[in-house]
Amino acid sequence: MKSARLLITLILAAGIIGFVVWRSSNTSATEADLVGFQAYDQPFSMPKHGKPDMRFHFLSAWQANQIPTAHSMDTPMGSENGALVYNAQKFWEMNDKRGGHHTGDDLNGIGGMNSDLGDPIFAAGDGLVVYTGEPSPGWGNIIVLAHRDLEGKPIHTMYAHLLEIKTRLGSLVARGEKIATTGTANGHYPAHLHFEARASDGIDIGGGYASQPLNRLDPQAVIDALHNSAPEGISPSALHLANASPADPWTTLEIENAGKMLELEE
Ligand SMILES: [Zn+2]
Repeated sequence: MKSARLLITLILAAGIIGFVVWRSSNTSATEADLVGFQAYDQPFSMPKHGKPDMRFHFLSAWQANQIPTAHSMDTPMGSENGALVYNAQKFWEMNDKRGGHHTGDDLNGIGGMNSDLGDPIFAAGDGLVVYTGEPSPGWGNIIVLAHRDLEGKPIHTMYAHLLEIKTRLGSLVARGEKIATTGTANGHYPAHLHFEARASDGIDIGGGYASQPLNRLDPQAVIDALHNSAPEGISPSALHLANASPADPWTTLEIENAGKMLELEE
């Protein structure tokens, strides 16, 4: 009788301990955990009813310190000079249907419609990946890169409606490095890249149309200002060499070019 009571007590105790352990391992992050200035890798919510989203934040000193200078910039689709791509909706064109000015360029493969679905998208310049995610179904997947111009001022480039994100938050990417593929934002549009440039030190996704220019820049003008500005011209950037795999047959050639580049700078 005594041993039966002991057995029941033991079973009950094991059950309680098991339940406590199960509960503690299943507790998910609360809203309070997510709304922190460092939780920038969480999907942003769009500003609704004028309420600011606490996750729209400025970069930390550590992140800001890592942002590379974009010595040169190229177009993010097609060739370095933008061949095989056309701009279907230019920056600041008025779109009556959407009720605002377009905040970026819509880059399309010359085949039209979905012929460019899955085509590579390249980093416009050496940059730090400061955002990857899907802020809303209409935006689809987005990447934001932080760069500095030749005077050290911050510029962000944003790549939207992506099919796949091929880079990771916090990565340093080189100009010309494949970071994504062209998508449709979950089938909302024919495949294209919505490409923006911003005079920005912080991340705010915002909308694709606006009545005020805010911090949005003409993306083509930003590229034109930096295109071929460095002695390396349209050859790979120094950061590209650092990121290149030794197995990459281009690496040897690039290192030779980098040697020449250093001679030029000395
Ligand atoms: Zn667009």
